[in-house]
Amino acid sequence: MAWVFQGNPKQFDIDDYLARYPELIYWRTPRYQSQIAVGDRAVMWRSGSDAGAIAIGVVVEVPTPGTAVKHPEALGADLWRTDEPDLDEPRTGIRLQEIRLTSQEGFLPRVVVKADLALSSASIITMPNGTVFPLDATQANAMERLWGLTTSQSLPALPGASEGQRKLMSHYRRERSNTLRLKKLAEVRARHGKCVCALCGIDDSSKYPRQLSERIFEVHHLLPLATAATPVRTTLDDLVVLCASCHRAVHATSAVEDNYAVLAGHLRGES
Ligand SMILES: [Zn+2]
Ligand SMILES: [Zn+2]
Repeated sequence: MAWVFQGNPKQFDIDDYLARYPELIYWRTPRYQSQIAVGDRAVMWRSGSDAGAIAIGVVVEVPTPGTAVKHPEALGADLWRTDEPDLDEPRTGIRLQEIRLTSQEGFLPRVVVKADLALSSASIITMPNGTVFPLDATQANAMERLWGLTTSQSLPALPGASEGQRKLMSHYRRERSNTLRLKKLAEVRARHGKCVCALCGIDDSSKYPRQLSERIFEVHHLLPLATAATPVRTTLDDLVVLCASCHRAVHATSAVEDNYAVLAGHLRGES
């Protein structure tokens, strides 16, 4: 059995949830609670103007009240734009296998799904009001085939992607999370009264007019991304603010941590 779990970006920041919790997520499950089983395939679906499948995964925890899930830290409670729904409502635990939030990453747009012979009659297309939608075996296979076909050129698909490539993709996704970026910049401004690059020390008053300096600063994810079985939550402490130039240099090769150390030493005059 396979299921489509839909989220409305007007109510919940789905992109940020998948970026910040790339291993395990929980999805509200008001229906089909007794039919969803561990091992079922899951498709995460974004509604709205950018509708389509944005992640695939597998059910690892049957619908369980939010108060009793195994990893409550992965509930993403802070990402609701509207009031968080009743925590007693069951949530399905889903281990994510691949996330594609943008067309560049190869997300599967609704128009493509709708045009597919098997999927055009699926309830996610014909009656898209709701949160959980079943796919029969034919529809599930069609969805997987389409997901495989939309694999972007620039990013390797999961089976072929090395663990290192997967980690790097996840890394970029977190750094692109605008919510995290804005929170981190606000934190640095509150502490220092200005934005400062953690490596070269350039600040937003020294070179660029303040009103034009907004895009100069980016956030860099410091910690190596865990591959642990427990969900990983990105916190502000895992991030540093870098100027765009230093950030490019740090990402000059995939040996990101080494590059960071080399550049830090270089700027201290050690090399
Ligand atoms: Zn810098
Ligand atoms: Zn970075």
